Amino acid sequence: AASSVDALSSAEKSVENVVIIGSGPAGYTAAIYAARANLKPVVFEGYQAGGVPGGQLMTTTEVENFPGFPDGITGPDLMDRMRRQAERWGAELHQEDVEFIDVKSNPFTVKSGERKVKCHSIVFATGATAKRLNLPREDEFWSRGISACAICDGASPLFKGQVLAVVGGGDTATEEAVYLTKFARHVHLLVRREQLRASRAMQDRVFNNPNITVHFNTETVDVVSNTKGQMSGILLRKVDTGEESVLEAKGLFYGIGHSPNSQLLQGQVELDSSGYVIVEEGTAKTSVEGVFAAGDVQDHEWRQAVTAAGSGCIAALSVERYLVNNN
Ligand code: FAD
Repeated sequence: AASSVDALSSAEKSVENVVIIGSGPAGYTAAIYAARANLKPVVFEGYQAGGVPGGQLMTTTEVENFPGFPDGITGPDLMDRMRRQAERWGAELHQEDVEFIDVKSNPFTVKSGERKVKCHSIVFATGATAKRLNLPREDEFWSRGISACAICDGASPLFKGQVLAVVGGGDTATEEAVYLTKFARHVHLLVRREQLRASRAMQDRVFNNPNITVHFNTETVDVVSNTKGQMSGILLRKVDTGEESVLEAKGLFYGIGHSPNSQLLQGQVELDSSGYVIVEEGTAKTSVEGVFAAGDVQDHEWRQAVTAAGSGCIAALSVERYLVNNN
């Protein structure tokens, strides 16, 4: 790959081989592979997650399921390691949000507030954002009682053997509720409507599980703490009567969905009805040749760090192949 890329004419060399957008596990893995293939990737890291690069894992504490860290690793530490690995192999990192992309003609254009880059290919790895309820005390208890990922946090000592609650009535929420019964003493499912939207099979699993109580017509208003400042319960309000009550619980899991960060590609590559980038199955190829997508922005199903990293690898290797075949 490197030799055919090196063979580009000097005029073409002002066009970058590949721009990678995003600095989660997908973006950094793509950057590591592309840099090691001598493609000199330009990475727009963004700073959407709390003003820092690194993506969703910057908002969590322990990551216990990323292979290679038997004792766990904090999210920020893991992301810092991925970043350094990309840098070590020569990825050019810019802590800037991309504000505009044009993939209607190749070379493509990518613009941030600070620079405009022309490129032959793009890896789009802007991730997804877990929808939040925006409860008054949400920031205070984020990762200290409130979580958006049962698979990630369910087994944490904070939640083991405790009474927990899940908000939502669709497949995500019901899956999370069933999953959490493995660890929790009891799970409450808080549903704003008067019925579940989940598939029939998931509904059966919920209703047949003695460790799950479903609360319909129930709005989640806020979390409540004890005198030690720990989360101790959830303030609920009945949608029909307005009656308020406190449900004792040590954890609150959001199962209300994710929004893919795909606005930049709207109208340019095919997105599904929820905004996820559509890729050809088993590949990172979008509907536009030379534009690849990796990680949560194209994955509404698994949404794990290791699957995001895996798809970042596929995207970078696909870029390499694409450049060889098209230059
Ligand atoms: P993200 O991590 O979402 O990163 C996307 C990146 O794109 C960000 O850096 C963002 O700043 C950048 N970006 C967005 N828009 C732009 C733009 N316009 N220009 C430039 N950059 C942009 N998974 C696990 O496997 N184990 C866990 O323990 C675990 N715990 C989690 C805990 C929490 C609280 C959350 C929210 C998620 C957790 N996950 C966990 C899920 C995991 O974080 C995601 O699956 C993974 O981060 C997805 O990686 P990604 O690279 O696709 O995107």
